[in-house]
Amino acid sequence: MNLKRILERRTKKEISITYTNNRVSIISFKTEGNRVLLRIQRLFKEAPLDVIYEIAELIRNPGMKTPLINEFFRRNQWRVRKQARNIAKIEPEGRVYNLKKIMEKLNREYFNGALDLTITWGRRQRRYAVRKRTLGSYNYETRTIRINPILDSPRVPRYYLEYVIYHEMLHAYLGIRRTKDGRRLVHTPEFKELERRFKHYDRAIRWEKGNP
Ligand SMILES: [Zn+2]
Repeated sequence: MNLKRILERRTKKEISITYTNNRVSIISFKTEGNRVLLRIQRLFKEAPLDVIYEIAELIRNPGMKTPLINEFFRRNQWRVRKQARNIAKIEPEGRVYNLKKIMEKLNREYFNGALDLTITWGRRQRRYAVRKRTLGSYNYETRTIRINPILDSPRVPRYYLEYVIYHEMLHAYLGIRRTKDGRRLVHTPEFKELERRFKHYDRAIRWEKGNP
């Protein structure tokens, strides 16, 4: 269920929500006529209904005690710390490749500079951890591309890394597509067609086949 919708129904006000990563002030709001500007910690996106109801009550009755909100936050604080770590770790400069520079170049060449994204190397896996096969990923919510650090190597040709980044940029460019029944479409025919516009597409696919 949608937080905004539930709050609007309970408070009979128009609610505009900004999600924050704030670890101290978890909820704050300002009322302007029938409109409430609510700033709320990202965690509350997944709050259970009784907690959301308490937020609605708080909006109608500022200054009241909020045991459910406090308890929910206390129990989920570890996730905030984890979020904070993930958010802080934006590290585009690798030992070999600078992702930000490569992405900026691709942005100019293929998207007229229209994409405003964050890019970072992912965290290195511990030595005995199973190596993840995912080379790149895109987070629609934070608009962040994460690239597997195994690609930060002189053995990986630049055109191949560019191809992986270009692929993730296309996900950002095209957005989330769904079928009528809500299934998420990932690599649509349109996606694949745009992907083939990458200058070194054939070379990149060949290199990938030779280096599984
Ligand atoms: Zn993909």
